[in-house]
Amino acid sequence: MPEARWITTDSATLAEHSLLPLTGPASIDVFTHLLTRGPVPRVEIARATGLSFAAVTKAIAPLVDAGVVRELGAARTASAAGRPVNPLSVVEDAALMIGIKINPGELIGVITGLTAGIRAELRIEPAGDEVETVVAAAAELVTRLRAGAGALSDRVIGVGVAVSGDVDSRGGIVRASARLGWQEVPLAELLRQRTGLPVLIENDVRALTIAEHWFGVGVDTGSFVIITIGTGIGCGLHLNGDVVEGAFGVAGEIGHLPMADSERVCSCGRRACLETVASSAAILAEIRAGTGKRRLTWDNALRLAHAGEPVAVAAFEQAGAAIGRAMATVVNLVGPEVVQVVGEGVADFDLYEARMRDEFHDHVFGAADRCRIGTRSHSFTDWARGAAVALLRSVVLSGGRTKYLTM
Ligand SMILES: [Zn+2]
Repeated sequence: MPEARWITTDSATLAEHSLLPLTGPASIDVFTHLLTRGPVPRVEIARATGLSFAAVTKAIAPLVDAGVVRELGAARTASAAGRPVNPLSVVEDAALMIGIKINPGELIGVITGLTAGIRAELRIEPAGDEVETVVAAAAELVTRLRAGAGALSDRVIGVGVAVSGDVDSRGGIVRASARLGWQEVPLAELLRQRTGLPVLIENDVRALTIAEHWFGVGVDTGSFVIITIGTGIGCGLHLNGDVVEGAFGVAGEIGHLPMADSERVCSCGRRACLETVASSAAILAEIRAGTGKRRLTWDNALRLAHAGEPVAVAAFEQAGAAIGRAMATVVNLVGPEVVQVVGEGVADFDLYEARMRDEFHDHVFGAADRCRIGTRSHSFTDWARGAAVALLRSVVLSGGRTKYLTM
């Protein structure tokens, strides 16, 4: 396996520290603003957070002392008030996060700086999907990513792990993951024991939504929905300024809305779920059945559809229509400003995007139709980065400590 390649962008001299020196609610607000909107001058932070200039300066001081925040450019002061006007910026490498996405037969790990820039990434294939095997592989991934960070390795503040399925983030337990065949796995504790680092586990789609909240579409919108298409159909909700977690840790399970006209059994064991017509496995099964080509691969199914083979075209259009109806359902219920559809291989969106949009517009109600729909390709690295951001957000919102983490 290749060693992690380390990309350094910031050579600032840093004070010794272990976690982020956040001293209270004002400090958390100021630091969050800097993380997600920086670089910004103090006066702008004061305006955005509603704090006084003096309160902002007080909140910033411990972060500057610790080398987590620095002033950009030569010292300048505005003549009228004698206040410093240089923008403040987060020092990207002052603290590092590791993010891991667990898939069947594959783990993808990234190490990121404070504003989620990926410094290095690694992929590892465990011998199986048994819990012990996967935990050992995840621990090896952490060791190699830290080794790649060299002298900065002690700045890793923890590990975020993204898993598909029903994940109890606060309890650190994967309650059920159909794709991995896991039930009631205390994953955070198992990985903490192996790595000695704080661990946060999160549902993969929610982790992606958290990353979008801080470093993606959420920077400009108060409410958005992320829909992920591929092996499963997921949905992350960000409403009224926060990510929806659900009272029991489950929310946005659009893939299991009972709205498909199909006899196929879903990965969750139920029938009529959206995923039984719209997941990549369902599309492939439909094309195999319709063409009689039982061993057809996904790549060849895509080729058939792009070449206009009627059965393949119809399977993708059926999936697009079902996703469009599900999207209208979500938008009619919660009324977001933006829906971002993400999936692997943006080139393939043309196979179902038109039907998806038509069906959405046919079923969306009234002014909710103003919701902007975007499509974007992503990779499994984005899932791992989402896990790293989920960890960071948990640390920052709990005041630099690790309230929801397994330590
Ligand atoms: Zn289902």
